[in-house]
Amino acid sequence: MLIYDLTLEELVEFLNKHGHKKYRADQVWNWLYKQKVLSFKEMNNLPDDLITLLEENFKIEALELVLKHISQDGTVKALYSLHDGHLIESVLMKHHYGNSICVTTQVGCNIGCSFCASGLLKKKRDLTSGEIIAQIIETEKILKERISYVVVMGIGEPLDNYQNLIKFLSTINSPKGLAIGARHITVSTSGIVPKIKEYAQMGLQVNLAISLHAPNNEIRTKLMKINQAYPVEEVIGAIKYYLSVANRRVTIEYILIDGLNDTPEVAIELCKVLRGLNVYVNLIPYNEVLEAPYKRSKTETMVAFYDILMKNKIQVTLRKEQGHDINAACGQLRSQHL
Ligand code: SAH
Ligand code: SF4
Repeated sequence: MLIYDLTLEELVEFLNKHGHKKYRADQVWNWLYKQKVLSFKEMNNLPDDLITLLEENFKIEALELVLKHISQDGTVKALYSLHDGHLIESVLMKHHYGNSICVTTQVGCNIGCSFCASGLLKKKRDLTSGEIIAQIIETEKILKERISYVVVMGIGEPLDNYQNLIKFLSTINSPKGLAIGARHITVSTSGIVPKIKEYAQMGLQVNLAISLHAPNNEIRTKLMKINQAYPVEEVIGAIKYYLSVANRRVTIEYILIDGLNDTPEVAIELCKVLRGLNVYVNLIPYNEVLEAPYKRSKTETMVAFYDILMKNKIQVTLRKEQGHDINAACGQLRSQHL
């Protein structure tokens, strides 16, 4: 088991069982999440028998760096190997307000969206919470700078790995853990309606992003087969429920695909669907993948789509792309190395 898989309470319990005092758990967490050491030996305020105990029971090295690409705008894409040889990736983006990382939550994804490179790789397994945390710590080592924003938008469907996601969020948000503010964390989901409701009830202050990509079932089902299980009206219902319980603005992700979901008629339909909701729409230029038949919308089409939303008083941004020259889109680096 990875040491990062343990909550502080679980570590206290483990140490207690082996005759060590509670404050030792705080010391270990300090080494893990403040000093960010990558070996137990470096924890030099712990007694030798405790270091041996930790070494015998836990692993601290979760990921092996296989490849890293640094793009011109400073975006870092890291390909990591897990202990069982599966490959995952993390993308680090530099912004004027700080560094943000996009983490992976599963090896592959079973949701199988037709435009997504990850969706073409069936899910092999869930990542543990520790494996998700380790992506932040390891990538900080590459960057030699602190990461202060986290987006859960890498490979995988986070709400399909729910327990580990919640554990991950609690450790990175904890003041004794990585102390990343809840408002600096965003979880993106393809729209698993019952899980969104469960998530809403937890009362986390973490941002929620929903991959909508279309305002009607005809287009959305083409892109996302999960729409057959949870159609647009149910996803909108879940967003309304979330807004009523969590009272936090929701992000709507919308990739723009040429001729499919980018026409003025579709933009108007989207405005109708979202009218009156406390949401903001993040328009994302589609990153073309070899295996999918879709093309990115033309720039003028994207701008026209944006303008229609603006005119209808829907809050909207058109995402500036980062890391395009290194294939920073979800799952692309990994799929090239299989
Ligand atoms: N499974 C979750 C989170 C991971 S995908 C979800 O679907 O929300 C994160 C975001 O990247 C989603 O909005 C997804 O639609 C988008 N995405 C996937 N492939 C893409 C591509 N080739 N170009 C642009 N965005 C893509
Ligand atoms: Fe999975 Fe998200 Fe890709 Fe869809 S877009 S296949 S849910 S990772």
